[in-house]
Amino acid sequence: MKYYFQTPKTTWETAKEKFSNLKATITGKRQITIPKEISDIYGLQNGDHILFRQIGNHTVFEPEGYTKPCPACEGTTQLDDKECFVCRGVGTLQIDYVRVHLLMMGHIAMTAFNYKIYIEYGLQKLDEEGNTPPFPVLNLRSDFYSKEVVDRVRDLVQYGIIQDYVGDTKSIINKEMMPIFKKHLIDNLRTNEYKQLAEEWLQTF
Ligand SMILES: [Zn+2]
Repeated sequence: MKYYFQTPKTTWETAKEKFSNLKATITGKRQITIPKEISDIYGLQNGDHILFRQIGNHTVFEPEGYTKPCPACEGTTQLDDKECFVCRGVGTLQIDYVRVHLLMMGHIAMTAFNYKIYIEYGLQKLDEEGNTPPFPVLNLRSDFYSKEVVDRVRDLVQYGIIQDYVGDTKSIINKEMMPIFKKHLIDNLRTNEYKQLAEEWLQTF
């Protein structure tokens, strides 16, 4: 059995060499000391809680609140009876990916090839004068996962991105712009579930 600390990937990649030989020894009462380098990444403090989870044949331990159930597979680790390409079969996602959907898009892009997912992104411009806020547009395709699943995950990310992007600027969308904005937003989403959510969200403007 291997034990490892689940670390932010970017931090881990850049620090891999430095951290590759970190070791801790079990002392009385099965205690170990978390290496300072690891502790510093998370800003761990006395009294923080550590969670242990089993992932395949690995035991992962991480600070409480560091991850959330993967919203794509809802923690089941699977989509279409295949490994979930969002959480990569882990069942949880770092909380930043759940909170900032652009990060989730980047996260998916990093291993899209491994999961036979085609990913493209561009920018949706709503009108020539730039009167309405643009937003990034994600396109996901796959011959491996069903269209239904891919569209749902795509909308999960896309809708989050639109909310993140437009949320702060919604006060500049006035009555004249609203129909244009609404049409683009609704047309942009693929599933009825998210079109419906978007309709409800627009009513809060
Ligand atoms: Zn997942």
